Amino acid sequence: MYKNLRRLRIAISVAMAGLLAWMAIDSALQATALGRWLAHTQIAGAILAGGLTGVLWCVLWVLVTITCGRVYCSTACPLGTLMDVSAHIGRRAGRGPASRYSYMDPLNALRYPIAAVVAVCAIAGINSIVIYTSPDWTYASIARACARPMAIGASGVALAALLLIGVWGVAWRRGRLICNTVCPVGGALGAISRSPIYRMAIDTDKCIGCGLCEDACKAHCINLNDHTVDATRCVMCMDCAAVCPNSAIVLHRGRFRLSTPLMQPMAGETGFSGVTGISGGD
Ligand code: SF4
Ligand code: SF4
Ligand code: SF4
Repeated sequence: MYKNLRRLRIAISVAMAGLLAWMAIDSALQATALGRWLAHTQIAGAILAGGLTGVLWCVLWVLVTITCGRVYCSTACPLGTLMDVSAHIGRRAGRGPASRYSYMDPLNALRYPIAAVVAVCAIAGINSIVIYTSPDWTYASIARACARPMAIGASGVALAALLLIGVWGVAWRRGRLICNTVCPVGGALGAISRSPIYRMAIDTDKCIGCGLCEDACKAHCINLNDHTVDATRCVMCMDCAAVCPNSAIVLHRGRFRLSTPLMQPMAGETGFSGVTGISGGD
């Protein structure tokens, strides 16, 4: 099931990235119903557009995130798709064992303040900050520079080249690191997805500790020491579930608890989770 969900996720993300690149290149499309719809699917675009439609799209994405995490980052955001392409090629190109994906502590001191500053700018109407920090603007700039370099001039091409090299290079080596450090949309969605109703979770009764999921996780958010998945950084890509040999990491309502009562920690007991994999509930 998760392999098919992952294929569906990839198909949607590629379609969205293609359509948004087309819209960035073809200004006539922007004035059509499809163009307006595409612009509203992007969170920064919906915020900037305002009005009832913009508000409804923002509410929709908030509800999706509360329900099942950062689905937006693995389906609707074209910059995320560009990063996934780079990360995929980087892995296929044979990165060494030293650069396999592994758990990283979250850089909350960076991502949440950036998201907060951009949110304040959005509320204050400082739209230039919202635009130039948005992933959709970055993606559109790169798409325009690739398709029509003569039309945007040397400075536009140079800026887009810098953006592309930065995004592509970081993703090649570190997957979705940008998503969980500097992207303001990712920071905001991370704050909302602290405890989604449905989340990726590890069934410790089934997990055999092979480490395949951690190696597949481009968001560096699977911690196999305590068998937890950091939902604030998980982008719901299903890459982990698709490679798990024992169906131990799945979409689940809340976190798993061990099924054997004797293995549950006693009330007030500490230091148990690192040994058994029990991480407590939400
Ligand atoms: S974190 Fe930002 S750049 Fe990454 S996928 Fe989400 S919105 Fe796009
Ligand atoms: S891939 Fe599955 S079995 Fe292997 S460590 Fe991850 S959750 Fe456990
Ligand atoms: S935990 Fe799984 S679904 Fe979440 S980002 Fe990592 S690989 Fe993707």
